[in-house]
Formats: sequence, structure tokens, C-alpha cells
Amino acid sequence: MRIYIDFDDVLCETARHLSDMARDLFARNVPYEAISVFDLQQAFSLSDAEINELMERAHRPEFLAGIPPAPGGLEAVHDLEARGHDLAIVTGRPATSHDGSCSWLRKYGLAHLAVIYLDKYGRAPADPPTGTPKTLSRDEFATLHFDVAIDDSPTALDLLAHRADCTVIVYNRPWNQRYAHAANMRRSDSWQEIVSLIGGLA
Ligand SMILES: [Mg+2]
Repeated sequence: MRIYIDFDDVLCETARHLSDMARDLFARNVPYEAISVFDLQQAFSLSDAEINELMERAHRPEFLAGIPPAPGGLEAVHDLEARGHDLAIVTGRPATSHDGSCSWLRKYGLAHLAVIYLDKYGRAPADPPTGTPKTLSRDEFATLHFDVAIDDSPTALDLLAHRADCTVIVYNRPWNQRYAHAANMRRSDSWQEIVSLIGGLA
């Protein structure tokens, strides 16, 4: 099966790391468990200038390198590949983060995984910097087939909600607790659960 895996807060623990950065930079004490909305400007009560600074720093290679993998995530990738599945990372990160994203994947032995940049949040620049990978529009993404997709962000999940031929796994996070599932969605608490759920689909 072809499987879409989101990067931030599915394959790695980005929000915990961002919470630490918001505390260190702007003295906001909002622990991971209290991030109740996906919009980090709102979650951390940041001004426009502060959220812009946070996001700019969050996509620097040195920040990305420090994000730990999600528990069981690396093992799950290897397990799914050993079962013959075809995996691709589908991320809403800006394509300018590509070098840092690839470094992270190399660091954890996942450099072979394809990385697809998708304009999940409608904020990809119309004129991307030269040398960065292509970012798919939502229309272009709609032409790609996935049997399974794993994501945590309500906005990204909405892009998958109409796909009758795709099982969408909602990675359980504090900011998606009240997300109303579409008919093709299941919720999962851990990578161990995700692997067994996918095993049950085959
Ligand atoms: Mg995510």
C-alpha cells in the first residue's frame, strides 16, 4: 500500500520542541499538553512579529536537527517497509526547509524516504526561492493516490476527508481532540497502534 506520513508531530515531536522555544524566546509557558489549537500564534499568544520569528527559527536546520523522533516512529517506518509498503513523507513545511529536513532524515537512517511538499495551509509563496523542491498545490495533490494517510493537523485532515479510497489515521494530539472525523478516519494514540491498524487493512 502507498502510505502518506506527515512529518511534524507524526514522525517527530515538533510541538514539544516549539513549546520550549516559545518559552525561551518569549517567556510563554504553554506546555505541549496545553496546546489546544493548531494555530501556534493563538496557542502561545504571540504577536505577528513573534510568530514570524518563531516560524523562521523553527525551519532552521539547527532547530530541525534537534527535534526527537515520535516514540516508535522509526521502528514503525522500518516495519511498514519490511511488509512491502511504499512510504512517502507529505509535509506542509516550507520547501526552504528541505536541507534541514533531509539532514534529520539522514540522522535517523531515513534518507531514502521521498519528501513531498504540499501547500497544506495555503501559504506557499507564489514565487519560491530557486533551488528549492516543488511544492504541490492542493489540486496537484488531489491527483496522487494514497491508500493510507497519517496526519495530525485539522487543516491537513480536511484535505483528506473526501477520499473514500484512503484510510486516514488521525494521530492523536492535544490540538485535534475536538476534530470531527470523516467516515474514512480512525484515531490512533501511537505508532504501535498505527502499524497494527495498517496490518488489519492489508
Ligand atoms: Mg503535522
